[in-house]
Amino acid sequence: MKAAVIESVGKAVVAEVPDPTPGPRDVVVEVAACGLCGTDLHILQGEFAPKLPIVPGHEFAGEVVGVGSQVTEVSVGDRVAVDPSLYCHECRYCRTGHNNLCERWAAIGVTTAGGAAQYAVAPVANCVKLPEHVRTQDAALIEPLSCAVRGYDVLQSRLGAHVLIYGSGTMGLMMLELAKRTGAASVDMVDVNPTRLETARQLGVSASAATPDELDRPQGWDLVIDATGNAAAIQDGLDRVSKAGTFLQFGVADYATRVHIDPYRIYNQEITITGSMAVLHSYERAAELFAGGVLNPDVFISDRLPLDQYPQALDQFAAGVGRKIVVVP
Ligand SMILES: [Zn+2]
Ligand SMILES: [Zn+2]
Repeated sequence: MKAAVIESVGKAVVAEVPDPTPGPRDVVVEVAACGLCGTDLHILQGEFAPKLPIVPGHEFAGEVVGVGSQVTEVSVGDRVAVDPSLYCHECRYCRTGHNNLCERWAAIGVTTAGGAAQYAVAPVANCVKLPEHVRTQDAALIEPLSCAVRGYDVLQSRLGAHVLIYGSGTMGLMMLELAKRTGAASVDMVDVNPTRLETARQLGVSASAATPDELDRPQGWDLVIDATGNAAAIQDGLDRVSKAGTFLQFGVADYATRVHIDPYRIYNQEITITGSMAVLHSYERAAELFAGGVLNPDVFISDRLPLDQYPQALDQFAAGVGRKIVVVP
C-alpha cells in the first residue's frame, strides 16, 4: 500500500510499504481522510516518536475492510473513526484513571503505524462507528475535538466565565466552539496573524485582536487558554488571568520552552495553572458532539490534499497556512 513515512528527522516521503495485518482484536481501516497536526511536526523534528521511520497520522477515519478473528463488534463495510490512544491498562497511572499519562504511553501514528496511508490497523476497542449523516472524511476531526473536550475536562468551568484564547488555528477554534457551549459570558481570541482571526469572527467570537491590549478587559479573564505552544503567547497569557482565574496550557510547546511565573500572584490571587494532554475518555463524547453538529467541518477543514502530497501538506501546515489540512489516500 501507499503511505506517508517520516523516515528520519526532517525527512517525510510517500512510499510503498507492506499492507498492515490485523491481530485477533484489530480491524483494518481503509482510510478516508487523515488530519495533520502539530504532533506530526514534532515527530518530523525528532520529538515524541520513540523511533523512526514511522507512518504518521493519528487523526483518521475510514471504512472497515478487514477484521481480526475475535472481532464481532464491527463488520466489513462499517464506517469508523479511530481513537489513537494505546494505553497499557497496567501501570499506576492507568490504574488510577490517568491513562493518557500511561508510563508506556503509545498511540497509533506516533509509536505504531498511523493513518496517513491507504490502510491502517486499530484495536476494535478504539473504533467508534459513525452515524449515517456524518461523512467519513470529515470524521478525521473527531480526534482533535476529543483533545479539546479533554481540555475542558480538567477545568472547573462555571457559567458566565470570560474566556480568552491564544491562537486561532484549528485547536483554538475548537476551544472557541466548546467555550460557547459551556455557557461562557464572552469568548475573546487573539492571534498575531490577523488574517487567521477571520474564521474566529465567522464563528461568533466576542472580540478578536492581535494582542489582548486591544481588548478592553483590564481585570483579566477567568479562563485563559493557550492554543499556540508559543513562549511569548504563554508568557503574555499568564499575566492576563483574572483573580481566581485559570490558565490552561493546551498548546504543545517545544521541550526547551521556558516562561516565568509569579508565585506571589498565584498565591495572592488564587490563580490556577493547569494543562491537558491528548485524549482521556473523551473520544466517544467528541464523536457524539461531532455528530450533533458542534462544529462545521467545511469551516474547519481548509484543505483536502491527496496523500501523495503529504510532505507538501506538512510544509503548508508548518507555514501556518489554512486550518485543518487532511490528506486523502
Ligand atoms: Zn493531533
Ligand atoms: Zn499505563
